[in-house]
Amino acid sequence: MTTITRFAPSPTGHLHVGNSRTALHNWLLARQAGGKFILRIDDTDAQRSREEYVDGIRKDLAWLGIEPDAEERQSLRLEKYEAAFEALKQAGRVYPAYETAQELELKRKIRLGRGLPPIYDRAALDLSAEDRAAKEAEGIAPHWRFKLDHDEAIRWDDGIRGAQKFDPSQLSDPVVRRADGSWLYMLPSAVDDLDMGITDVLRGEDHVSNTAVQIQMFTALIAAAYPNSEMPRFAHEALLVGNEGKLSKRLGSLGCDAFRERDIEPEAIVALLARLGTSRPVEAIADRGELVASFDLSTFGRAPARFDESELDRLNAAILHQMDFAEVEGRLPDEMDAAGWHAVRPNITHLKEVRDWWQLVTGPIDQPDFEAEDRAFLGDAAAALTWSETPWQDLTARLKESTGRKGKALFLPLRQALTGKDHGPEMKELLPLIGEEKARERLERSAASPRS
Ligand code: GLU
Repeated sequence: MTTITRFAPSPTGHLHVGNSRTALHNWLLARQAGGKFILRIDDTDAQRSREEYVDGIRKDLAWLGIEPDAEERQSLRLEKYEAAFEALKQAGRVYPAYETAQELELKRKIRLGRGLPPIYDRAALDLSAEDRAAKEAEGIAPHWRFKLDHDEAIRWDDGIRGAQKFDPSQLSDPVVRRADGSWLYMLPSAVDDLDMGITDVLRGEDHVSNTAVQIQMFTALIAAAYPNSEMPRFAHEALLVGNEGKLSKRLGSLGCDAFRERDIEPEAIVALLARLGTSRPVEAIADRGELVASFDLSTFGRAPARFDESELDRLNAAILHQMDFAEVEGRLPDEMDAAGWHAVRPNITHLKEVRDWWQLVTGPIDQPDFEAEDRAFLGDAAAALTWSETPWQDLTARLKESTGRKGKALFLPLRQALTGKDHGPEMKELLPLIGEEKARERLERSAASPRS
């Protein structure tokens, strides 16, 4: 059976880093198996869903290089849910309930006060046909609950958490449909997973108790409406936490926009999210094929995965240091060529820093004032400068011999005069880029009397 996974965001906001991670893992799982990855937009909540968020989700996934093989939208599949609902109704697995939100809240409080779990008491199941007719005559439309089967424990073998067991009598019969006919997330999701042949549901551990309930929905739906379908496998990943070890507000809203603004490469985020929370080391792996090949649910731990933003900078630098000119060409200053990229690449953490280093080549630069002795030395340097494939090596060798200077005394004034900085990319790579004329002019200017 072909592996089919899905990422099912509700378009009620932007993707945050936790969602992106779930999307990535589903994509990796599908790619590794040579299967399919579906983007499913869970937009049954017409009031809260917004088209701009749908666009944002598509854009962010594309930026991260998580390309879906297909896109589905729940709002275009409402007849499927209606048909499944009818089948469940026929099978006696959904029932109408008439309590108001206030009544339910009151029941909850009473149960909690008695030390009982705040689950729904199933009072609606005791209503007679006349009771229901009376409610409806009063103009009270029912909402609908899925009737859990209390006879058997719910079990599944979770791809990350191992054997799971829930007692259905400790769970509320979930509301699947509101009084206005709109759908809550649970039932449409199970219908879609069966209808689209989803083989693996991989999502955050905040969905574990939903899975318990949905397993019964899957069973009921297979019996009533999807006889040729199979229940997917389930895996729930530990949630992401911030540096402080807690689910932070910041992390909950940290999205691709913030990363783009910080000039983080998508490859750095992907490399981090692919391995975070697993027993594999987080490494600057830019090759997606390598991440696909090494993806393994059995390496996922159950402890919360800590998202460390400073690790992201480290990875970003390491990813950039591996990048070829062709991969970044379109994002570099116009006149910068492959040699320029190779010269500055080891010195950057973020791509935008290229501009500052490149400025040392193109100028203008800010040279420091030199002591008389260094000025004389720089005058010698200007006179000794010749041009070849290796002007820096030639110049320093010659000056070493003629002046007896070595180490810092030899290199630092030259670097300062030629670039205006105490440190930076390798001079042997920068000098050929600066060029003979500009280099001589900079040396001569530094050799002249202090400007102040
Ligand atoms: N739309 C649901 C959510 O965003 C989907 C959860 C799932 O089944 O993956 O929480």
